[in-house]
Amino acid sequence: MSLKPIHVIGGGLAGSEAAWQIAEAGVPVVLHEMRPVRGTDAHKTDGLAELVCSNSFRSDDSSSNAVGQLHWEMRRLGSLIMAKGDAHQVPAGGALAVDRDGFSQAVTAAIEAHPLITIDRGEIAGLPPAEWDSVIIATGPLTSPALAQGIQSLTGESELAFFDAIAPIVHFDSVDMDKAWFQSRYDKPGPGGTGADYINCPLDRDQYEAFIDALLAAEKTEFKEWEGTPYFDGCLPIEVMAERGRETLRWGPMKPVGLTNKHNPTVKAHAVVQLRQDNALGTLFNMSGFQTKLKYGEQAAIFRMIPGLQNAEFARLGGIHRNTYLNSPKLLDPMLRLKADLRLRFAGQITGCEGYVESAAIGLLTGRLAAAERLGQPLDIPPATTALGALVNHITGGHIVTIDEGPRSFQPMNVNFGLFPHIEGVSKTGPDGKRLKGPAKSLARKQALTARAKVELEAWAGGEAAQAAE
Ligand SMILES: Cc1cc2nc3c(=O)[nH]c(=O)nc-3n(C[C@H](O)[C@H](O)[C@H](O)COP(=O)(O)OP(=O)(O)OC[C@H]3O[C@@H](n4cnc5c(N)ncnc54)[C@H](O)[C@@H]3O)c2cc1C
Repeated sequence: MSLKPIHVIGGGLAGSEAAWQIAEAGVPVVLHEMRPVRGTDAHKTDGLAELVCSNSFRSDDSSSNAVGQLHWEMRRLGSLIMAKGDAHQVPAGGALAVDRDGFSQAVTAAIEAHPLITIDRGEIAGLPPAEWDSVIIATGPLTSPALAQGIQSLTGESELAFFDAIAPIVHFDSVDMDKAWFQSRYDKPGPGGTGADYINCPLDRDQYEAFIDALLAAEKTEFKEWEGTPYFDGCLPIEVMAERGRETLRWGPMKPVGLTNKHNPTVKAHAVVQLRQDNALGTLFNMSGFQTKLKYGEQAAIFRMIPGLQNAEFARLGGIHRNTYLNSPKLLDPMLRLKADLRLRFAGQITGCEGYVESAAIGLLTGRLAAAERLGQPLDIPPATTALGALVNHITGGHIVTIDEGPRSFQPMNVNFGLFPHIEGVSKTGPDGKRLKGPAKSLARKQALTARAKVELEAWAGGEAAQAAE
């Protein structure tokens, strides 16, 4: 029986991996890549899976690092991106870094040589033709404008963003609740809230002034020329607000009104930083209104000046970049299909993950889902206890959309342990019988999470193989 091809649009990290997975499952693929016919502002070659900036796939430690665990899962599932990354690695300590040209050439050669893959060099300049019944859109942060417009015609204008505006995200268990407290302004519950939904961190006058001084002195990242300057008043970086006046933040995201410090009820805070729950698990909180272009190296030290955040561990630092991405929790179903047109699946950074490895991982899964559907062997997504499942869960369901009114809060995210469900039964003592504390306790938890992820991924992969054999 000859199968109709699946069309993959975009031959970047996600599209190349998706095409490979589909072809390896025995289903024909047409991979549409617009370079070199039409370029992007960041890509420089016509190679598939070009790395546009750093050459690092980050930590390769699969026992205590979430992206290392994702590497492990992808290798286990036959990832082309990981295989060629491993074959072209360059020395980088505990990280996996690759020779970018050798890597991209090897991915291109493998795809070109696959008998079930056809490469079509050309832009898809609008919605895919109606006769394409299964399509994966993996066109990345720099999706061409004509296709972006087509997508917007299905999603609505406000649901496809062209810039991210990322506020830092903190692991809840690193917040000092002896200094901070839970309360919503004026105890208002808002839709889906309880009246005590925000973590509040109080600053006195001296602390506020020192914080503003640090913001003004810190180094900022510049926009690239082609990005333009996307600021609009509802979404200014905190350092730009501070430059507009020392009191601006106190009248904006740091306003101290409607709140009573439960640790010190008679003293009014001079300013308050609020953190809003970010994921349904309650493990991550974002710093409300704190989008920033401060250099990464500056951010942790400056934010740790805030009482309650002195030991904060960050799941994500802030940033503002040119980035085309969907409001996925609203638009995509759990199988990464567009609810408004189920023949269209999305993969890669356009879904709201961040980074080369994460984009390829979502490409891997989407390719498998599309191939399984074509073969009449529907596949479940991996459990949220795996790195792959945790990442998909962030994209399609784990993120809390709103507690109160305000700009939409879904922002791109790297894989991190805050996305994994809580684990019971982590040993509280070390081999010497002494109680684990601080970094040793955190390490034990990470090791338990990755051990559980490996077992669950194996079970999922085994189930997948059994389904295919039926
Ligand atoms: C300037 C910049 C720097 C970055 N630096 C890093 C970094 O250092 N580390 C990191 O992990 N991540 C970085 N990223 C994010 C990185 O781009 C993604 O993690 C990754 O490349 C996303 O993979 P993807 O497959 O989703 O998109 P891409 O790899 O961008 O692939 C998308 C492909 O789709 C093609 N395309 C677009 N529109 C069409 C169309 N209409 N028809 C046909 N083809 C089309 C493009 O030419 C491109 O080849 C950076 C992004 C940018 C923009």
